[in-house]
Parts: sequence; structure tokens; C-alpha cells
Amino acid sequence: MADNRREAGFSDVPEGEIESNWDEVTDNFDDMNLKEELLRGVFAYGFEKPSAIQQRAILPVIKGHDVIAQAQSGTGKTATFSISILQSIDISIRKCQALVLSPTRELAQQIQKVVLALGDYMDCKCHACIGGTNVRDDMKILEAGVHVVVGTPGRVWDMINRRALNTEQIKMFVLDEADEMLSRGFKDQIYEVFQLLPPQTQVVLLSATMPPDVLEVTKNFMRDPIRILVKRDELTLEGIKQFYVSVEKEEWKLDTLCDLYETVTITQAIIFCNTRRKVDWLTEKMQSREFTVSAMHGEMTQGEREIIMREFRSGSSRVLITTDLLARGIDVQQISLVINYDLPANRENYIHRIGRGGRFGRKGVAINFVTNDDVRMLRDIEQFYNTQIEEMPMNIAELI
Ligand code: ADP
Repeated sequence: MADNRREAGFSDVPEGEIESNWDEVTDNFDDMNLKEELLRGVFAYGFEKPSAIQQRAILPVIKGHDVIAQAQSGTGKTATFSISILQSIDISIRKCQALVLSPTRELAQQIQKVVLALGDYMDCKCHACIGGTNVRDDMKILEAGVHVVVGTPGRVWDMINRRALNTEQIKMFVLDEADEMLSRGFKDQIYEVFQLLPPQTQVVLLSATMPPDVLEVTKNFMRDPIRILVKRDELTLEGIKQFYVSVEKEEWKLDTLCDLYETVTITQAIIFCNTRRKVDWLTEKMQSREFTVSAMHGEMTQGEREIIMREFRSGSSRVLITTDLLARGIDVQQISLVINYDLPANRENYIHRIGRGGRFGRKGVAINFVTNDDVRMLRDIEQFYNTQIEEMPMNIAELI
């Protein structure tokens, strides 16, 4: 079995369960002793009641504990740490007091907007410090002084080294999509930034997925963390119906997608491919058949990426073909359909991808294109998360 999984592209992780060690709940915002202007910001943003993770994790973070917070996709992790940050900073000191790192520029920008919106009545200055933008402009903004920085690791590291970002007053370090940030691609960069922070800095990790090997690494840099964790068979959301279509061969995926196009455009949809080249190829094929689609991946310029995201967020583009670049964190409430044109290369990203639909309790549908070679991987996902992925019914349009 282990060998099969490795062949199927999945890493083997130790199976030992690490349990939560925290179950205190505060089930409304009024009882959290938040600053008045922050509470106003929370209600003005439209939140009435804290979500499950907010009820559990906000207070321990505010109290200064190191916290590992895992919660299903779309259940409000961003506001969990944003509210905690806004409560913890001293607004009269215009220096960076909280640093948030995220794996993608798009996610960093999205988080920055949430911090600014929730902190609207506090006059909080929050800067998105991301690659692909003008370095000088970044330095100017940071040197003028901001309370919170949300960024991607490379640019943040650069800004610290150029002494544009002073870390002396930083008291909280947040890693969003923590398992991704601590995975091979990012880990060294994260440690490099971490070493430049004051030794007492509080560390907060969040993600929908927290594989045991990642929890194990956290022992190296967290102090007695409070763990709020979800068991893996509770990770898939009831509101997201999962289906598969047997396409048998790779060559038949394109026609299948074209047949589904009308269904796809009922609302907004995201289509995931495993490589940038495949995204370009599929986009070109769809467009040459007169289907309207847009595309996004990490090889595009920052300017292009921003335009595509803006169009998709505003709803002026409705079908976005992309890579795992957008698998994590992106919050567009109108997305109700996710198509895995290719199955993801790891189990975690399956959960993140399908979680782009069905935000905050909304309904969503995920459709997996499965070739004969993929059947085993699909079964593996089903088993791992103890969930059902059924054959796509004829009346799929009615479910979206
Ligand atoms: P996650 O990071 O857990 O995937 P997000 O933080 O992106 O989820 O939140 C998903 C959506 O739910 C966002 O659109 C957010 O505005 C909304 N949301 C979060 N918390 C609340 C709340 N307490 N009440 C209503 N909506 C909320």
C-alpha cells in the first residue's frame, strides 16, 4: 500500500494522531473584551457571531500564547488572526508589531484587505509586502511606518535586510497556510526571517491541513503551543458535494470540459491543472473553441496577475483556469464549482482546492476528472479523508 501511494505521488506521513489541547469557547464577539473600535470594525464588516475557530483561537492568541489553529477551508481563519493582531498592537506606535507570511502574493493582498477593513475604525496601517512590485515604493511605505506587514517570504526578508522593515517591535509572527510554509519549498526562507525577529516573538500557525510531520517540526520553534486541531475525517465540508467523471484517457478531458461548460458558467468556477504549461494549453484550446475563460499562473507578470484576480473577484470573468498557485486561501464567495482537470499531486491540496468553493457554509460542488490511471489516487483521497466521491449525476446543473 505504501508503495502504491508513493507511486501515486503521495508522500508517506506518520499516522500518529496529535490531539487538540484546548477546548475553551467564547461564542460571541462582545465577550472577547476587544477594543471598542475593533469591535465596531468587526460588526461593520458584517460579522455577527464568531465561527467555531474564532470562538476557540482568538482569545489564546490575544493572551500571547503560541497557537496552532487548524480549521476547515472557508471557516474564518483569516479573521481569527487579523482580529487577534488588531487587538494586540498598540496603534499609537507606528512600527511593525505583527508580521504575517503567506505562500502567495494574491493571498497576502487578500489578507491585507481584511486587516485594513477590520481595523478601519482603529486607523491601522497594514502593508502587503510582496514580490513583483516596486522595491523602492515598498521601502518608502515601510520606512514611513506601518503597524502590520503581510507578505511573501522573499520580499519580506529583503526588506528586513535592507533595513526598511525594522523588526524590533514585532511581537507576533503568523504563518498562514502553515503546512505549506513549512514544507520543503519555503521552510529555509521562513527560518531565515524567523531568526531576524526578537526572541520572544509569539508564533501563530494556521491552515486547513496540518500533517503530523509538520506538527512535529513546530516543536523546534514554538513554546508550549495551544493546539486546536481537526481530525482528518472531519476536514471535508458537508456543503461541498464531491463527484468524479471517468474520462478514461487524458485526451478525453477536453471534450468533457466543453460538454460541461454551460454547467460551469452557472456561477463562478475554478479549474485546476497541475502545470503552468497545461493551464496555457487548456486556455488556448477552450478559447479556440469560443469558450470564454481566463487563466492565471506564477509565470505571469505581477501586473497581469492583478488584472486577472480583479476580473475574477468582480465576477466579470467567471471561469478561471489555474495551478495550485490559487489552491490555498483565495476567498471568492461566488465560486460554487471547482474542477480538478488534473487530480492534485498531494492529498493536502485536494482539500485546499475543493475548499475554494463552499465558503463559510455556502454550498459547493467539486468535480474530479479521472483517467484510468487516476482511479487509485481518487480512492486513496476518499479513504484518507473518509469521504464519498460519487460518480457525477446527469442533473449536476441542479446541484450548483
Ligand atoms: P479560511 O481562512 O478559514 O479559509 P476565510 O478567513 O477566508 O476562511 O473566511 C471565509 C469567508 O467567511 C470570508 O468571506 C469571510 O469574510 C467570512 N467570515 C469569516 N468569519 C465570519 C463570521 N464570523 N461571520 C460571517 N462571515 C465570516
